[in-house]
Amino acid sequence: MSKPYTYLFGPVPSRRLGRSLGVDLIPFKTCTMNCTYCQLGETPCEVSERGNYVPMPDVLAELERWKQADGRADHITLAGSGEPTLHSAFGEVLRWVKDHADCPSVLLTNGTLLYLPEVRAAAALADKVKVTLSAWDETSFQQIHRPAEGVTFERLLEGERAFRQEYSGELSIEVFIIEGVNSDLSCIRKIAALIELINPDRIDLNTAVRPPADSGVRAMTPEALEILAREFGPKARVTASFKTLEIQSLEITPETLLGLIQRHPATAIQLARDFNVQVESTVQSLEGLVSEGQLFSEERDGETYYFHRA
Ligand code: SF4
Repeated sequence: MSKPYTYLFGPVPSRRLGRSLGVDLIPFKTCTMNCTYCQLGETPCEVSERGNYVPMPDVLAELERWKQADGRADHITLAGSGEPTLHSAFGEVLRWVKDHADCPSVLLTNGTLLYLPEVRAAAALADKVKVTLSAWDETSFQQIHRPAEGVTFERLLEGERAFRQEYSGELSIEVFIIEGVNSDLSCIRKIAALIELINPDRIDLNTAVRPPADSGVRAMTPEALEILAREFGPKARVTASFKTLEIQSLEITPETLLGLIQRHPATAIQLARDFNVQVESTVQSLEGLVSEGQLFSEERDGETYYFHRA
């Protein structure tokens, strides 16, 4: 195994982004929210203060090492195991991509800190930004996202609206739909009306296709999501990954598996489908990492999920 990365993971195949190299700037599950649907489990470190959570020179050095060793990706994405805008220097990664990479950058953020002008200025360095809007008022926001103290629905909306006005890149809004919580037509229409005011370029509908933090969270069916997507107009797409990606097979090394599972617990079938490789060989690699003590497996809803021991 070559020297593993601490802050980079992937490239991970993505329906929308192709081969996406992930950059993770935040310690595991450090976030401004504790969403009921989070696939990383409960948030043990709910914070809203920004800081230098990991050393930025080390992150940039890993990006340089990756560029020298391989440097092939369709996108470089700030994402991972927490909220990237909590890092007070996240804009430096986006600046590095502009200056040194041949592919666009993407910022996946929950949007809660965009009410701060300095966060909006740094986020605007990304070529594509995806934010979240799955609630329609403070009560539904608290119920779905269980935010840190001081993180409010009003600030989320204010930040997303202000960002759209200042940002000329591609802005997507993800709506995460939970059956029985925000799936009624009346709730969906309220969310759609708020999104119309923000005026993003795309609207992505997602649901709990992986084990959520709160086991009571229920996924929508693909058919039900398609019906709800119509309420958001022509910019809306169902992005929940129910289907196999139409991609070439990607190499699935032990480092790739570890880096990915640390951020996204998954089944062997999901991984084999995402990377377009054989299930049997994926199971073999995963079980090898289980016997080395790096991963563990657990039954969830009748399926075997692999989790990182870290
Ligand atoms: S889903 Fe995203 S925003 Fe919500 S708790 Fe998980 S990491 Fe944080």
